[in-house]
Amino acid sequence: MSELFAADRMERAQLAAAEAGLDALLITPGPDLRYLTGYNAPSLERLTCLVVPVSGPATLITPVLEMPIAQASPAAELGMSIVAWPESADPFELVATTLVERLGRSPRRVGLANQMWADQVMALREALPGVGQALAGTVMNELRIRKSVEEIAALRGAAAAIDRVHAQMGQWLRAGRTEKQVADDVSAAIVAQGHAVSSFVIVASGPNAASPHHEISSRVIEPGDVVVVDIGGVMPDGYCSDSSRTYAVGSAPKDFLAYYEVLLAAQEAGVASVRPGVSAESVDAQCRELITAADFGDFFIHRTGHGIGLQTHEEPYIVGGNKRPLEPGMVFSVEPGIYFPGQHGARIEDIVVCTDEGVERLNRQPRELVIV
Ligand code: ZN
Ligand code: ZN
Repeated sequence: MSELFAADRMERAQLAAAEAGLDALLITPGPDLRYLTGYNAPSLERLTCLVVPVSGPATLITPVLEMPIAQASPAAELGMSIVAWPESADPFELVATTLVERLGRSPRRVGLANQMWADQVMALREALPGVGQALAGTVMNELRIRKSVEEIAALRGAAAAIDRVHAQMGQWLRAGRTEKQVADDVSAAIVAQGHAVSSFVIVASGPNAASPHHEISSRVIEPGDVVVVDIGGVMPDGYCSDSSRTYAVGSAPKDFLAYYEVLLAAQEAGVASVRPGVSAESVDAQCRELITAADFGDFFIHRTGHGIGLQTHEEPYIVGGNKRPLEPGMVFSVEPGIYFPGQHGARIEDIVVCTDEGVERLNRQPRELVIV
């Protein structure tokens, strides 16, 4: 755990915050807090806030009743002080006084965690009058976008766990069952295969397969249905999985088979194009070109992919307009889809890593249409 949540992250965050013209980062529960400390703090109405001045030790401010879990978390091993606030105290004042003490002066500008609740943002504005507020995400996302060797190993483990769930899909996905019945079994398997929680289960059958973010319904799966299954969970270490496969129940419609082949080739081309220096948008373009050349371009209605780490969706986004060059250590999905409203659809999704030499696929399940 300590190798995964390395202590030097705090120092790198401090340096980056200083470069961004911030005096401190104020990080409430969420992926940034977990990234910096390993602490998976509950996100509740009582304030938990990591106060990170640009130099010197950080302070974790926690509600008194959550002191035991804060002390039991990896944050305690990082040598920061953990300060509890009693029920009747004003935790925002405590953040303000801690910050002034650590800096030896009033801050001018602070970075707030992107996922901080709006009521907390407003309360901090009152407790720190005249202090500029910025998004800590501009600093944190830059650190999180390049994964360490340990993080890539964690994501490899998450991908293998979700692959084991897809490998068993034939046990659950059958004509006569509802999408919900299938999803309940898949959800249990996501946990059984090593995830701490199942984050989402999309079982989109028949015409529902044409809706990329359809989750589940009471629709009964029929012979000849195409079914998009897009699933993911969070491992105990906090790292996420996300993989889609398309299945056919017994057989698939002929017009479907024609575009599935195109989709398969497009996903392959997209993945093969990944290497350092290539832009995020060019990976999207690689996928899109093949699909457009086959006249299915109007039916590929979403971006090609998203980064993944402590969040299922994070930077880098593989989308037209994102000219950012890929770098070794970036981990993201390549998931083109083709969707015919009212009829059927397909998506193929793998998580890949940009490596020094090119690309490594983390999901290894066959991508050909699986007949169940
Ligand atoms: Zn995805
Ligand atoms: Zn997905």
